[in-house]
This record gives sequence, structure tokens and C-alpha cells, in this order.
Amino acid sequence: MLGRMMSLPLSIPSILDFADRFYPKVQIVSRTVEGPIHRYTYADAARRVARLANVLTRLGVGRGDIVGTLAWNGYRHVELYYAIAGIGAVCHTVNPRLFPEQIHFIINHARDRYVFVDLTFVPLLEKLAERLPSVQGYIILTDRDHMPQTSLSPVHCYEDLLEPEPETFPWPDIDERQAASLCYTSGTTGDPRGVLYSHRSTVLHAMAIKAADAFGLGARDVGLAVVPMFHVNAWGMPYVAPMSGATMVLPGPALDGASLAGLITSEGVTVAAGVPTVWMSLLAHVRQQGGSLAPLNRVIVGGSACPAALMDQFAALGVETIHAWGMTETSPLGTINQPTRATLRLPEAEQDAIHHKQGRPLYGVDLAIVGPDGAELPFDGTSFGPLRIRGHWVCDGYYRMETSPSHGDSGWFDTGDVATIDPYGYMQIVDRVKDVIKSGGEWISSIELENIAIAHPAVFEAAAIARPDPKWGERPLVIVVLRPGHKATEEDIREFYRGRVAKWCEPDKVIIAEELPHTATGKILKQALRRLYAGA
Ligand code: AMP
Repeated sequence: MLGRMMSLPLSIPSILDFADRFYPKVQIVSRTVEGPIHRYTYADAARRVARLANVLTRLGVGRGDIVGTLAWNGYRHVELYYAIAGIGAVCHTVNPRLFPEQIHFIINHARDRYVFVDLTFVPLLEKLAERLPSVQGYIILTDRDHMPQTSLSPVHCYEDLLEPEPETFPWPDIDERQAASLCYTSGTTGDPRGVLYSHRSTVLHAMAIKAADAFGLGARDVGLAVVPMFHVNAWGMPYVAPMSGATMVLPGPALDGASLAGLITSEGVTVAAGVPTVWMSLLAHVRQQGGSLAPLNRVIVGGSACPAALMDQFAALGVETIHAWGMTETSPLGTINQPTRATLRLPEAEQDAIHHKQGRPLYGVDLAIVGPDGAELPFDGTSFGPLRIRGHWVCDGYYRMETSPSHGDSGWFDTGDVATIDPYGYMQIVDRVKDVIKSGGEWISSIELENIAIAHPAVFEAAAIARPDPKWGERPLVIVVLRPGHKATEEDIREFYRGRVAKWCEPDKVIIAEELPHTATGKILKQALRRLYAGA
């Protein structure tokens, strides 16, 4: 017997429609590429999204077409998210920090029909345009006064296109399983792979991250999405903010510590989401300039392991750090760290250790760790093995790729991470499978070594890699970048490891470098470091 409940599609347009009806006066605040702060309401956004849907239809974009964006976090990018998905097309967010050759590959592989581009990235596209045969035109995300001279052709001005269009649109019915957005993984090996999110997966993910034990986002909040809209939909912030009636603050291209601190205090940001490197520059700014980050009360940190030192510095400013883990393939949130009644009763040191883990799975996904024979390992907090995930917002194949090497036929997605899961359900990443340092048959976590180095007062950033060793197979090497104005020798840093880690895990060598290479999403590029230093 079927239940007698309404069956409405879980669709992306329904989110903005909800905000338009029930939170029409709540604002989206954006720092623009042109400079000034732009403010408007969810009701204003809904009207402009309808105009944009008319523009897209006039340009010939229809169901299933892919439309590219190369843009910062801003209100026009939000409009693209909703209008493209709303007409049944797919919003393909291209990461402008990728190498031009990767961008070229991605736009061609996705067969983008149009590309909407921020002023910043016009020169980048100009260099590639000749080799993008699927692209029928470019739309620059600006107004007439700011239109640049460009070789892109045919080229349109976004505001000019929107201006004459009506503020209503006959929105089509959406099958919730229909594709809504596309994001390519920025893998360090091989070609990028496209992860194709559906309306259903996007809505379910947003509902899950909204919950009290996740972002806990509500209509009292002002949410700042520092994490870029060009990578995994800014962790769902453009969906969860309107769904919650929260004000949404978007930092545009200004991601330095001073600009972020200014935005947090002037807009009254209560919750912010971003990767550790962004928060390190924000905290460095506050250290130098003094002052507070009030009313900010929590930051969500993910994308790479959150160093304990970062949590301590935020705590000193009265800001709680919420550690989260995820991947492009998992929309991205898989786990998030909030306490339980049981963990709150533990001694402080144990609570502290748990707080640093990557957290418990959100309802809607399931996790498992497996041993060498593929059998599931116990949740005892010490057994570790490759981490698998399955669930409503986990991909089951890549876009236009027959083979999905990570999948096999197990029904699980192999994350490529190695993890433990403790009896309270908290998952902790030990390492990436390919980054773990295998010394004499034992595994050394590069993340653990990095966290120790970063706790040294003179260290700004650190990376631990394996270097080949004739006796042990591999031994750890740590490369650090010092804070400006601080001094430390290699021996000082090595000394710092004594007593903080088992003797055999201590790095054999520490190198002080000027800078570390990063991937397009802010992770340390270990492959490049191995090439540079493996023989060190
Ligand atoms: P991406 O698909 O580019 O977002 O990268 C996903 C990968 O980033 C994961 O498989 C992890 O290796 C890493 N990652 C994400 N969040 C964390 C975290 N909180 N701690 C450690 N590693 C993380």
C-alpha cells in the first residue's frame, strides 16, 4: 500500500521560491568584482532569476544543456545557480584556479554551450576561446559601464541582457533526479572528472547540513561562504542560506584576512565556512591588528585537516571551530564534528581529542572502513583502513566516463582516504591513501606530523611527505614555511617533535622553504613536493 502523502519534487527552484515567499526581505550581500558592496533581498533575487531564465531561453539554452560559469562568490553567480537549474539545464562551475590546460579540458569535456564569466577571468578565457568549439557565446558578469575591450566573441553584457526581460518565467516541471550542476574534481593525477549533482541530491544535502548537529543554520544567522562557489557549490551555502532564511554574505574576489575581517564585522556574520588556509590569513590579520571577530561564533573548516593550532586561535577569540570532511564526489559534506551528550561527559582532554576529528556522518550517508581483505573494520577508534561512503548525495559514476575506477561493484564509493571510526561514531582521517608514509611496515600519518609542526609558534604552514629510504622503505620529511618575522632552525622544529609523537615517527629531516605549492582548491600539492624534495 502506498502512503497518502503529496509527492513534490525536491527541486532547486523550490528553495528560492520558499525564500521569496517567507523571507522576502532577507538579504544577499556581495562584495563585487567592480568594487562596491551590493545588497538585495531574496525577493529581488527571485525576480532577477526569472529575468535570467528568459535570457537563457532566448539564447537557446534548454533542458540538459550545460552552461559554464567562471566566477567568484557573488549575487550574479547565485542567480546563475538558480536560473540554469530552474530551466532544466546544468550549471557547470569551472574552477578558475586550475591550470589553463585543465580549464580547456573541462569546458570541452562538458561541452559548455555558453560561459558566464567575471571580469577577472576574461583574459584567461580569451587565451582559450579559439579552442572551445562547443561554446556559442560568452556573457560577462557586469554592467555596460564596466564592459571591457575583449576578443571574446560573440560576447554579451549580463546586465544588458537582463534589463528588457520580464520578471516572471513559466518554470518547467522538474524531475528531482534530473542533473542540476556539474563540478570537476581537481585531482592531482589524470584528467579532472565531472561530478554531476541532481536536484534531489542537492536539496537533501542542503537539508542535512542545515540541521542542528551540522551547520545549525537558522533565520537568526548571517552566513559567510568563503569557500568558493566554483568548487562543490560552496559546500551548499547558496542553497542552505535561503532554505533557512539566513542572510547570505559573499566575499567576491577579496579573500585576504583584512577584507574578510571587515566583512565579518560590518555585516554581522555569525557563521562562516572555508578551508584552513583562508582562516590562517584571517587569524594572522587579527593577530597583527588586534580587535575581535564578533559576532562570529562558529566557523566550519574542511577541505583539508584543520590544525589544532587554528582551533585554539579561534577559541581564544570566542569562535567555535566545527571540523567537517567531504569530497567533490560527496556534494561535499560527509561528516561534521558536533558533540553528543555522551562525549560532553568525557574528561576535557578526551573531548578535546574528539573535537579535532573530522566528525560523525550526517543522516543520509553511511561510512565504513575496511581491512586488506575488504572486510569491515570495527568502530574502535584505532583500527584504520580505506574509508568508503554511500548515500543520497554520493556520486555513483562520473559524467561522460564509462569507467569509474573508484567504484567497483560494492555499492560503496572508495574515498581514497584512510580513516578510523571511534565507538561514538566520530571518523578521523589518518591520511590520503597515497600520502601515508610507510616506514618499516608501519604507517605514519602525514597529517599528524603536519599538525605538530603547525603548533610551533614560528611555523605558518607545513607538509609531511615520504622520501625513499633503503632501510625502512620510506621515512618522513617535513617542509615548513615560517611566519613572517619569525625565526626557527630545522633543528628547533625537529626538537619540537620530541615527546609529541612516537620516536620512530619523528621526521628525519626538516626543510625550511619560502612557500609551498597548492592545488586549485587550496590543498598542499604533495606530488610537486615529492618531485622537488624526495631526493633531499
Ligand atoms: P576535493 O574533492 O577536492 O574537495 O577533495 C576531497 C579530499 O580532501 C578528501 O578525500 C580528503 O582527502 C580531503 N579532505 C577534505 N576535508 C578534509 C578534512 N577535514 N580533513 C582531512 N582531509 C580532508
